[in-house]
Amino acid sequence: MRLDKFLCDNNIGTRSQVKEYIKKGQVAINGQIVKKPETKVNEDTDIVICQGKEIHYQKYVYYMLNKPEGVVSATNDNTAPTVVSLLTVPEQKELFPVGRLDKDTTGLLLLTNDGALAHDLLSPKKHVDKTYRVRPEKPLSAEDIHRLESGLEIGDDKPTSPAKAVLTEDGDLLLTIHEGRFHQVKRMLQAIGNQVLTLERIRFGSLSLDPALSRGDYRALTEEEIKHLR
Ligand code: URA
Repeated sequence: MRLDKFLCDNNIGTRSQVKEYIKKGQVAINGQIVKKPETKVNEDTDIVICQGKEIHYQKYVYYMLNKPEGVVSATNDNTAPTVVSLLTVPEQKELFPVGRLDKDTTGLLLLTNDGALAHDLLSPKKHVDKTYRVRPEKPLSAEDIHRLESGLEIGDDKPTSPAKAVLTEDGDLLLTIHEGRFHQVKRMLQAIGNQVLTLERIRFGSLSLDPALSRGDYRALTEEEIKHLR
């Protein structure tokens, strides 16, 4: 691949920034300074140093999005903006969301081009925990909490698996489930005679929604976060 693409893909800078670095002689391939952005790099075997730092090619990318309302968890949609369209990154066309949040659900959504990891995280066998902050229509009783935790009939062939339900001081429910059934949280609240007013995902497996991200913002995962996801 071209050297400027290699550097962009690794988030070293925008296409014009990395071209500047190359032209200024700040980039070397296998110990040789190169000044042409179109120089070919073999991402598996060449050693690329940019501004004194060795760059290891990242084939896969991982972004945490704070999903806003009104956006669909898909790669293409004719009626509404998609979560992918919010990420203006070089790899945008290869990205897909890991699982789905409803159009009116906000919060943590992982986007990646790593199909194997996505498959693993979504596998029912993996039991990846997801925590949602739910604003219920009506206050929840201790009995409601018990029923949510024990498993509920929500109209599927079997009841929901045991969950963890905690009430916050302001009456919100923090509900942790490991299944990912269609509209699961909304249907669980309906099953106890309540309704979801707002729904936000705050944890997905080992990832917590970064409080520094406003709705619609995203950031790349850190190496540490990627390591813990696996
Ligand atoms: N449960 C729901 O009902 N909706 C979501 O978006 C996620 C979990």
